[in-house]
Amino acid sequence: MDYDILVIGAGPAGLAFASLMADAGQNVALFDSQPKAALQNPDFDGRDIALSEKSRRILDKLGAWSRIDPEHIAPIRCAKLHDGDSRASLVFDPRAAGSDRLGNMVSNHLIRKALYDVAKTKANITLYCEARVNALHRGAARATITLDDGTEFTGALAVAADTRFSKIRQSSGIMANMHDFGHTMIVGRMAHEKPHHHIARELFRYDGGLAILPLNGNRASIVQTFPAETAKTYMNMNEAAYTQAAQCRLNGLLGTLSCEGERRAYPLVGVFAQNFYTDRLVLIGDAAVGMHPVTAHGFNFGIQGVANLAGHLLTALARGRDVAAPGALRAYERDHRALCWPLYQMTEKMMSLYTNTTFPARLARKAALHAAQVFQPGKDVLMATLTRTPLPTLVRAKLPTPMRLFS
Ligand SMILES: Cc1cc2nc3c(=O)[nH]c(=O)nc-3n(C[C@H](O)[C@H](O)[C@H](O)COP(=O)(O)OP(=O)(O)OC[C@H]3O[C@@H](n4cnc5c(N)ncnc54)[C@H](O)[C@@H]3O)c2cc1C
Repeated sequence: MDYDILVIGAGPAGLAFASLMADAGQNVALFDSQPKAALQNPDFDGRDIALSEKSRRILDKLGAWSRIDPEHIAPIRCAKLHDGDSRASLVFDPRAAGSDRLGNMVSNHLIRKALYDVAKTKANITLYCEARVNALHRGAARATITLDDGTEFTGALAVAADTRFSKIRQSSGIMANMHDFGHTMIVGRMAHEKPHHHIARELFRYDGGLAILPLNGNRASIVQTFPAETAKTYMNMNEAAYTQAAQCRLNGLLGTLSCEGERRAYPLVGVFAQNFYTDRLVLIGDAAVGMHPVTAHGFNFGIQGVANLAGHLLTALARGRDVAAPGALRAYERDHRALCWPLYQMTEKMMSLYTNTTFPARLARKAALHAAQVFQPGKDVLMATLTRTPLPTLVRAKLPTPMRLFS
């Protein structure tokens, strides 16, 4: 019952981290409250994830990307943001950067399955299913966790990957900035008459947000965001009424719609932990940073944080240090905060503006989108991050041909 690392939560973050550390020769115990069948073959949970190129590469290195059937991977060729009923939009088109896509759409359950299959190939990962971690005790040399049934396990480092409402984070006294947006996101797949041309769209309508996330064929994940009470009404609608309402809200953009499967509701709460580590405990994935899904970055930040933490820990181990070496955990916290904090803050501000429908706010909404559209350097930085194109290449690609020859 003694391991090097105890990982609490076998979601994408916990599975990826366990595999990276197992590759470095660490003995890892991975605990999840769900039964084995649910982890082995997760059900579709309504989430279609927009994966950045950086995340795709990390999944590739882990050996997970090749396990996802290419038929279930859909490219995002371009993204457009609209305000209200305005035709003007903020456009992110990666073609200027020489890239054919901004990212890829992949269903969350397929990512989970691929990461589970990778973890199962590692002899030094022991997976405990139906194992809810109830308590964590952090001693000078070991961390001890206790399951619901009273069984205890010890390890040099405990890793909390147990959702944005992390019980381990709370019980270890790590405070978190929690922002309840008061809104609920309803997600569901739909088939549609007109093509989406693989353009992801975010429509900040005055009666609630609406996003089109393109899947293969004439199919998309339709994401609608409403104040919590209104969302209940939409969740209670029968399929025909819900489809009709979505069709009206899309204003004919995709033609006639039809539902593919059930819709699901996710209440929106953003979480940012004040610290990402303490003695013998580190937070990863949503337990560290739970993003609002509007910027499609929760998983992307989670997997990048996992790779970053594993990198610092491997360096510490190579220098003969403890796997819970504070220097390595501090370096992870510094890097991960620098990666996530600006977008986390921007998302909070953006959502308070784009859920406000007063006249001055409507003017500010339009002005903000227009300013972002004309401020090319800002778009270039974002595009370079998403497509992994070096910024100078991207800037050079925009120059007129004669200037490009001499630049
Ligand atoms: C509607 C929606 C759309 C999204 N779209 C995107 C997107 O386009 N792009 C993007 O990057 N991100 C997106 N996200 C965010 C992304 O889904 C999450 O960031 C990611 O799933 C978090 O992974 P995780 O491993 O940290 O946590 P989770 O997936 O929540 O997994 C946590 C695991 O811990 C287990 N657990 C919890 N408590 C315990 C305990 N006490 N003991 C044992 N096990 C425990 C749970 O059973 C679970 O398996 C979206 C989220 C939502 C809700």
